[in-house]
Amino acid sequence: MPDPRTLPTSPFMIVTSVEVQCSGGCPAPYGAGEPPLFETIDDAIRILRDMCWVFVGNRALCPGCAAAADCAVTGHQWTGWTKDMVEGLPCEQRTCQHCAVQEYDPPLAELEVLVRTMWDLNGGADAG
Ligand SMILES: [Zn+2]
Ligand SMILES: [Zn+2]
Repeated sequence: MPDPRTLPTSPFMIVTSVEVQCSGGCPAPYGAGEPPLFETIDDAIRILRDMCWVFVGNRALCPGCAAAADCAVTGHQWTGWTKDMVEGLPCEQRTCQHCAVQEYDPPLAELEVLVRTMWDLNGGADAG
């Protein structure tokens, strides 16, 4: 652990820290809040590996991006279809057990069109 260098007669300390960006380009690999700071790159890799990050060559992938990268190569691991409701419309939904992506039948884009059509038929009630 590096000691912060204290300048003898000064209140200022020089402290270095490491922040890790996900190479998958996701905006918030740590969820809400500030990204954590690590004391050294080795610390960052060790701690993040424990949190299921994947480090390959010069890339660091958060668990979500690592799973998505897996699925891109090996395909999704779908659950069975289950009945679901979107905005009051019955549909079916399944989830990838690996990367947690969800798929709808009919697809969400079509459901949104149906929902908007229903709102239009209702005269746009609840618009405010
Ligand atoms: Zn990511
Ligand atoms: Zn998947």
